[in-house]
Amino acid sequence: MKKDLQEIMASLSIEEKASLCSGKDFWTLKEIARKDIPGMTVADGPHGLRKQQGDVDHVGLQDSVPATCFPTAAAMACSWDTGLMEEVGRALAEECRREKVGVILGPGVNIKRSPLCGRNFEYFSEDPVQGGKMAAALIRGVQSCGVGTSLKHFAVNNQERRRMVVNAVVDPRALREVYLTGFEIAVKEGKPDTVMCAYNRLNGSFCSENRELLTAILKEEWGFTGFTVTDWGASNDRVEGLRAGMDLEMPASGRRNERLIVEAVQKGELEERVLDEAVERVLRIVFQKAASLKDESTFTPELHHELARRTETESAVLLKNDGILPLKSGGTVAVLGAFAEAPRYQGSGSSLINPTRLDNALAALRDLTGGPAELLYAPGYDPRREESDGKLLKEAVAAAAKADTVIVFAGLPEVSESEGFDRAHLSMPEAHNTLIEKAAEVNANIVVVLSNGAPVTMPWLPRVRGVLESYLGGQAWGPAVADLLYGTANPCGKLAETFPLSLQDVPASPNFPGGHDDVLYTESIYVGYRYYEAAEREVLFPFGHGLSYTHFDYSDLRIEKQAEALNISLTVTNSGERDGKEIVQLYTSHPTSALFRPAKELKRFAKIALKAGESGRVELSLEKKDLAVWDIGDRKWKVESGTYAIMAGSSAADIRLREDVPIQSDDILSAPALAQSEKAPGYFSPAALDFGSSSCRREFRVLLGRPLPDRQADPGRPFHRNSTIEDISGTGVGKLFYKTAMFLGKKQAGGCEEKTAAMMDAMIKEMPLRNLGMMSGGSIGIEAADSLLLMVNNRFPRPAFFKGAGGLIKALLSRKG
Ligand code: BGC
Repeated sequence: MKKDLQEIMASLSIEEKASLCSGKDFWTLKEIARKDIPGMTVADGPHGLRKQQGDVDHVGLQDSVPATCFPTAAAMACSWDTGLMEEVGRALAEECRREKVGVILGPGVNIKRSPLCGRNFEYFSEDPVQGGKMAAALIRGVQSCGVGTSLKHFAVNNQERRRMVVNAVVDPRALREVYLTGFEIAVKEGKPDTVMCAYNRLNGSFCSENRELLTAILKEEWGFTGFTVTDWGASNDRVEGLRAGMDLEMPASGRRNERLIVEAVQKGELEERVLDEAVERVLRIVFQKAASLKDESTFTPELHHELARRTETESAVLLKNDGILPLKSGGTVAVLGAFAEAPRYQGSGSSLINPTRLDNALAALRDLTGGPAELLYAPGYDPRREESDGKLLKEAVAAAAKADTVIVFAGLPEVSESEGFDRAHLSMPEAHNTLIEKAAEVNANIVVVLSNGAPVTMPWLPRVRGVLESYLGGQAWGPAVADLLYGTANPCGKLAETFPLSLQDVPASPNFPGGHDDVLYTESIYVGYRYYEAAEREVLFPFGHGLSYTHFDYSDLRIEKQAEALNISLTVTNSGERDGKEIVQLYTSHPTSALFRPAKELKRFAKIALKAGESGRVELSLEKKDLAVWDIGDRKWKVESGTYAIMAGSSAADIRLREDVPIQSDDILSAPALAQSEKAPGYFSPAALDFGSSSCRREFRVLLGRPLPDRQADPGRPFHRNSTIEDISGTGVGKLFYKTAMFLGKKQAGGCEEKTAAMMDAMIKEMPLRNLGMMSGGSIGIEAADSLLLMVNNRFPRPAFFKGAGGLIKALLSRKG
């Protein structure tokens, strides 16, 4: 750096500073050469690098440079291996360095509130400690190589439906104990260079202008020193955003927001020091990255491919095994299911990677030493179709009838898991379920390999002998799966989320994806296993579950109490005949708490490798703060005195060792904290999550600050800049606009695959009018959007109307494609 940051700051005009608060274009930050300020390129992640070179978009429509597609976060989370996460992080950074990318946009640490969220494949877990620790490790890995990360989407972005405008209404305990904890861990233990805000509103205010989130919590309380960045197009009121602590707007704002910032400073509505702080935060990282990206850098794609394979091998979860697995070599094996040949290895949207190579399972099984003697293959279904194809099904069943063993590759098709929209149900396509059922009618030895980014129901489970959940396993998925099926590798992944029996059992279901404006998180802290364990609800597979080809015994739990910590250790013994790895999970509870609390909360975990017959000691340490609850009255973490259960488990439902430990604390819970639990036992008791109860309604009226929304009410009129294209499509002009936008969008995407069409449709429908500028690459300005608003609101035309409408038509006509 030629000059120091303070010198540069002092030399910048207000206009220059305002200009540095938004991007230059889609993927780069502005440079000011005469002031020695370099630019910086950012690009999508999180499970690979999506760097675009030609046409740009934020939803994975256009091509990107080839990069290693690692297993998606939902898969990697199941490795529970923070060391491995760091390794993947370093590999991602090497790929970024070669492409001169300063910040990779990930990881995403949003909580899996419902298995239906379309983007769950990009997130780690339903548990904030699991997700937070995995994210922190990935961040450490990337950043140790001089590349930055962007922890996203801050916060409470747990659905795709109306994600750009919806208001997530969450009570303060759920917010702190569930939805923010993962971010807190990732920020404190990973120290990301940037944090990306979510699109949605949180308790009334857009996350892009939420002072409580961006400044009070993130910067002041957690000590975040990097810069905050909007999700692409998440900026609502830019000046308000700056005031709240939003440092950088992405992508480019078409200069309009720069002008608004300058005006606000000149009129005294925005303190210049606030602008300075934002610019300083951005420039500090920009200078760092410019320095660290100076050297030429390269990587060996084959080594990264091998790492992707190892990551998937460590992550796939053996859900069921009655002894059929590992498969013995030899014999005739029928491989059924088109996914065997055309893998489902990643999800759609902004995280879509253009892989350097793609290995399928069919070829891997054919090539495997010690694999089948004879292999029959039948696709069994058309991967693009929901319903069975009679001919394909018949061929597959005939192959199954001839084989000693059948491996069925099934799961969710591309079109059902994407950024932009949520799933509507938990089922796999009828064609996949039927293939498994029919194969099971003619052959008793069925093993199912699943490829999906989130839980599915398994009506055929009793009729199959083994199930391997491979998630969306990245570009080296095929050989990893073959190794696991034949025992070349021993499965050692465990679920980082619960597989429920049905959607009705999911506590968020009555309020997912919520109404037109608001989504009420009435289940409070009872998310995932926090609910199932407390309510004693049966599930398909519990959080933390995963089998191995060997067995592990737990013994000798010891807890050593120190002033501010508990040192916990236990012995794990591999009592089987194969080397393997076990993931030990440490849960706590406070059964006599004065508040409603989960029956189990994950606090720590460790993965230990043990040779057959070997024992090892696992050591974990808990700080006192790990036992705390959020006191809603004093707005502080507090530790209640009392007896805590410390539990070591092989899953949330399989606790092997437990010891009760008395804890003395000076903290005193506030009256509001205590009153809340007394006031609403019916509502918060997990046995009867009573969403319709009057106490629940009262609670949410207070959180909303207005009456509860009437679900029947006509949404939206009069329309405003945050009305979506879908909202206005009920009007004549709105409908015409929507259809034109869809037509142009599809053309721009260059012909439309089914998955692209579905995503495009959702993206366009859910675009608020304030974002037409971004959607149209800047050609539809805010004036044009305002004209559209006048038209759909049937307002009397004004001169501005004609000017704007003219601009709108010109803009639409000038769209390329
Ligand atoms: C996504 C982000 C992504 C950004 C840039 C947005 O639509 O929500 O996760 O990083 O686009 O592509």
